[in-house]
Amino acid sequence: MNKIMEDKLVYVVTENKRENHDTVTLLLSCEKGSVPPFVPGQFISIYFPELNTPEGKSYSISGPPGKETMEITIKGIGEFSNRLCAMKRGDRIIGSSPYGFFYSEQDDTGLVMIAGGIGITPFRGMIAHTLEHEPGRSISLFHSARTAADLIFDKELANVSGLATHYFVTRDTVSSPLITPRRMKPEDIVRNCRPELAEFFICGSIPFVRDLWHGLKSHGIAEDRIYTEAFFSH
Ligand SMILES: Cc1cc2nc3c(=O)[nH]c(=O)nc-3n(C[C@H](O)[C@H](O)[C@H](O)COP(=O)(O)OP(=O)(O)OC[C@H]3O[C@@H](n4cnc5c(N)ncnc54)[C@H](O)[C@@H]3O)c2cc1C
Repeated sequence: MNKIMEDKLVYVVTENKRENHDTVTLLLSCEKGSVPPFVPGQFISIYFPELNTPEGKSYSISGPPGKETMEITIKGIGEFSNRLCAMKRGDRIIGSSPYGFFYSEQDDTGLVMIAGGIGITPFRGMIAHTLEHEPGRSISLFHSARTAADLIFDKELANVSGLATHYFVTRDTVSSPLITPRRMKPEDIVRNCRPELAEFFICGSIPFVRDLWHGLKSHGIAEDRIYTEAFFSH
């Protein structure tokens, strides 16, 4: 192992779970000791030295803390992510400790989670953790995807009490009480939560995050109540 890799952790894949046609969740343990502590919303960097990306690529932790394994959920779109999606039980991955600041530091605000596509990943762990440890908090999830088949975690979250879900699909004609077939608008969000009591978390592509951030601001949400995590430039 070269110098750059010396302070990194070795994660071991314990399971590869398919979430939909192009997305999988990997359950990871650590080769030495237990998985590192983290706050839901944080991410790890992963390194494939042979793919010429010395800075690695980031993946949000998609499960709650306090478990034997740490989960990451990956959409296969390029060489790096497809290699992760193809990982099997027993494969080893070099990664960093968790880091990032995409989480609430309050314990009584409502949590409004706004996801574009694969940007839903940090919210799954936040939802599970909040329901278990801060059950009094209101939680709303707004998820936009291209089609109903591109939604992730929707079946798992369907019967979670204490969570209000709102789905939007931009390239699908499907319509159900839970799925609206058009782009998500900021007014959909502020109308369906109590904005004065809430903190807002936006995660997805850079344009998605930027548009929703401006939209929430134009509806009177203060900047210090809006947290963002941008995954892609696409
Ligand atoms: C903080 C952070 C957290 C992240 N968390 C996750 C995560 O939880 N899960 C995850 O899958 N990824 C996550 N990402 C993105 C991840 O780091 C990679 O950028 C991603 O996996 C693509 O890498 P790649 O090399 O396979 O594809 P690339 O070679 O970078 O891209 C392949 C092609 O897909 C296009 N593309 C890029 N993004 C998208 C998109 N969203 N939709 C459609 N096409 C796109 C590119 O323009 C390119 O043409 C995160 C990024 C950051 C910064």
